Amino acid sequence: MWFILLSVERFPHGMGQSMKSLIRKRTYAAIYRLLDKVSPLPGDCGLLCGGICCTGGEQEAASQGFALGIYLLPGEEKLFTKKEDWIEWSWSDAADGDFPDSWSGRVYFIRCKNPPSCPRRMRPLQCRFFPLAPHIDGDGALRLILFPMWHLPYVCPVIEKRLPLSQDFVRAVFTVWKHLVRDPLIRDLVEYDSGEREESSLTFLV
Ligand code: SF4
Ligand code: SF4
Repeated sequence: MWFILLSVERFPHGMGQSMKSLIRKRTYAAIYRLLDKVSPLPGDCGLLCGGICCTGGEQEAASQGFALGIYLLPGEEKLFTKKEDWIEWSWSDAADGDFPDSWSGRVYFIRCKNPPSCPRRMRPLQCRFFPLAPHIDGDGALRLILFPMWHLPYVCPVIEKRLPLSQDFVRAVFTVWKHLVRDPLIRDLVEYDSGEREESSLTFLV
């Protein structure tokens, strides 16, 4: 399990090196700039729910000994200094977590210290894609789906009510994923997550 607001054992620290992503720092920066220009809805969807995708489920997770936060994609950490005062950093070794077999090395995991407040231009990709997720279907084609509700510790009104998403947002997210899955590590991740889903229960946007 990977995408957005995930839980891991509290602050694990593995030993490996960072993963060797094919996606360069400047490409990640360009992706951030592209996604800065779009939002799921014309207005601020956080007003519908109080930004629950940044804060929801924290107490339940803590009571079970888990921490909520966000995994970065391989190489995405290059955009950060790791000294940002709004982030708590940790990482796990890919071999110890729920990741594709091809993954080895550090998988970075960040927690926001004051959610839902953050420097908007530095939001990680997982925050920017939500409530969409990539999916590779049985024919090997890349698709976009609404994030499956059963993976979430809160209710997202956009998903629950099937609110119509901005087409600019859907197009931009799909464009980004078409690029990202050219990296074999990221494609493996999308295939890995896709294999855990029952396609008949998914809502496809692309
Ligand atoms: S994506 Fe959903 S949960 Fe997140 S702020 Fe928008 S409406 Fe709320
Ligand atoms: S980085 Fe910002 S948008 Fe993402 S979870 Fe943290 S506070 Fe929310």
